[in-house]
Amino acid sequence: MNTKKELEHSPKTAWEVYASQEERQAMHELAERYMQFISHCKTEWETVAEAEKMLRNAGFGDDYASGMVVRTFKGKTLFAVRRGRRPLAEGFRLIAAHADSPRVDFKQHPLYEDAAVAQAKTHYYGGLRKYQWFSIPLALHGHVVKESGETIPLVLGERDDEPVFAIADLLPHLAQKQVTQKLSEAFPAEKMNIILGHQPLDKTGNDEEIKNPIKQHVLRLLDERFGIREEDLYSAEIHAVPAGPARYVGLDKAMIGGYGQDDRVCVFLGLEALIEQAGVGGVPEYTQCLIIWDKEEIGSEGATGAKSRFFEYCVEDMLVHWEPATRLSKVMLASKAISADVHGAFDPDYQDLHEKLNSAFLGSGPTFTKFTGSRGKYEANDAHPAYIAWLRQILNKAGVPWQMAELGKVDLGGGGTVAMYLGNYGMDVIDCGPSMLAMHSPFELTSVADIYASSRAFKVFFEN
Ligand code: MN
Ligand code: MN
Repeated sequence: MNTKKELEHSPKTAWEVYASQEERQAMHELAERYMQFISHCKTEWETVAEAEKMLRNAGFGDDYASGMVVRTFKGKTLFAVRRGRRPLAEGFRLIAAHADSPRVDFKQHPLYEDAAVAQAKTHYYGGLRKYQWFSIPLALHGHVVKESGETIPLVLGERDDEPVFAIADLLPHLAQKQVTQKLSEAFPAEKMNIILGHQPLDKTGNDEEIKNPIKQHVLRLLDERFGIREEDLYSAEIHAVPAGPARYVGLDKAMIGGYGQDDRVCVFLGLEALIEQAGVGGVPEYTQCLIIWDKEEIGSEGATGAKSRFFEYCVEDMLVHWEPATRLSKVMLASKAISADVHGAFDPDYQDLHEKLNSAFLGSGPTFTKFTGSRGKYEANDAHPAYIAWLRQILNKAGVPWQMAELGKVDLGGGGTVAMYLGNYGMDVIDCGPSMLAMHSPFELTSVADIYASSRAFKVFFEN
């Protein structure tokens, strides 16, 4: 018979589990590598480019005969695979994460000049709280494709010697009407215009009057630096993101603050899990796959989102090269996946929005979410109990702390992930990733202990 202590579930936190000097050091080494990654990768295409570089450096390439393949599509989605000992007919292990994050995009015809400044019109991307993006330093990350087909990458505002950009907020003295408005109405998107310049282009001797001299000056500077002109912006994607690197937060450096941790934390940990396996040299039992998707924040649509066929095409190609007699459906139905994504942590300042018993706590390890969806589990994948039992078993055996949660109170919470699109194939899938505070804000907060525990969890998943 179980003792009283054994009957009740009282899990240890990641801090309690990883308490040794060595573990704490490994925790911070991982945190440093991760902070570098998110400081550098602030868009899906920067993330995919860096991920591809890391994978190729680790021996992944184009040749299926090598058993280690990486491929990308449109520079915004990536698939990598490491062939296992067992046939694909027995299924693969898949980690799926997304590389896009909420941000403020330039409109296609962005530039104008008014009231002594040149500005860019924007259209925000994803579920952001608009007010958080006013009066903070912004950097521009993007790429411009010229008529010739030449792609010009553009990053401005990250180096110390570069200027940054900003959306000016209203002064409190004139905000008396605004502060009485509903939050959803107080910050219209058409006021999210980014200041690009202020100094007019100087007239030279025989110039006639210059129309829009400040805008002209901005165009001149863009031309000098990047060789682009206004029409080129039609075939461009330029994103304003929070400027500057990720930082430790707290006297104890136990948390990480930075932009785009949803979901680049899982991208990074998935990458490391796959690469470290490759470094060992041994062939894994089951084939290991990593997919990095785009467009998760706006509904997983399009050629590079989770609803696209890219992932399926990649699996088809694996079969053609490695196991032509096996049907796609057989592989999909036998596979196991982690929809690697972050979870909203129990917020000390908004406790009333959470239901404590089923909340994720910072520092308690990666959070499993059996179902997402909202108000009655609508639009949720719902992980099967047998799959959760298997995950419990492998993580407990490996001594990895984990927790299980829902996002907020039933009538209040809601959200979706890519899990349901993988569920459509019949494979086992569950959401899992670190929890965070201030999700979708310009400065999201995670726990270094959770990141370490999640890293362990992803590796254990790949190995089993
Ligand atoms: Mn996410
Ligand atoms: Mn998100």
